[in-house]
Amino acid sequence: MDELVRRYLRQQVELGGNEVLMEGKTRPGAAGAAPTPASVPTPARQPKDWRVGAPPIPEAGLTILAPAGDDAVLAWSSLSQVADAIGGCTKCFLCQGRTRVVPGEGDPRARLLLVGEGPGQTEDQTGRPFVGRAGELLTDILGAIGLAREQVFICNVVKCRPPQNRKPLPDEMAACAPYLAAQLRLVEPKVILALGATAAEALLNAKRSLADLRGKVHSYHGIPLVVTYHPAALLRNPNWKKPTWDDVRIARQLVDR
Ligand code: SF4
Repeated sequence: MDELVRRYLRQQVELGGNEVLMEGKTRPGAAGAAPTPASVPTPARQPKDWRVGAPPIPEAGLTILAPAGDDAVLAWSSLSQVADAIGGCTKCFLCQGRTRVVPGEGDPRARLLLVGEGPGQTEDQTGRPFVGRAGELLTDILGAIGLAREQVFICNVVKCRPPQNRKPLPDEMAACAPYLAAQLRLVEPKVILALGATAAEALLNAKRSLADLRGKVHSYHGIPLVVTYHPAALLRNPNWKKPTWDDVRIARQLVDR
């Protein structure tokens, strides 16, 4: 089995089990599978298309107009200018505890932009968003819908690590909001995927449960926005992987529209 197939099967198991494993095939070595003689090469497996069994595009949800932005925000004409501004930012308490700022990274013309809550310990040390176990899981999820990490843009609501990974406070999110707004304006993605309740709250300006916000296509200044679980939450509760798999396939369909 080549590495591509091995990785694909790992993604599918991560995301929900048998339903998303190969159609009509039994994994070698699984209970009930016929033994494969050493002399007979294992047939190459083709990944099952993510579209198979994907849920339909759900109903419209909230409609949010993007913040107007102040003159400084509107003056930024590139993501690197935004990152430079973040690098020297002391607008909120979070600057005091950071090792590095984590502005975000990815394709500046990405069709899909993902927003998480804030940097964790590894992100704070590396200056990169979504690294570590949650980041690996996110990379696998993206791979399962046919997107490499380099093809999307990934960032967070706040760009500096909150102490003990606590949820950012409202004034911290408000202070950092212009950077996220600028990134969204500059990337102009086709679809936004909010990872977790904090990202959804910040983008939709709505304090509602994740259950209430999932399963709809919201609009952020005309850009379709889908809400799903944060990858770190999936590591704590694997039962959320299947609904997440549905959410990302909805987002992926919107990217293709
Ligand atoms: S979290 Fe945002 S607003 Fe606060 S110091 Fe960092 S970059 Fe500035």
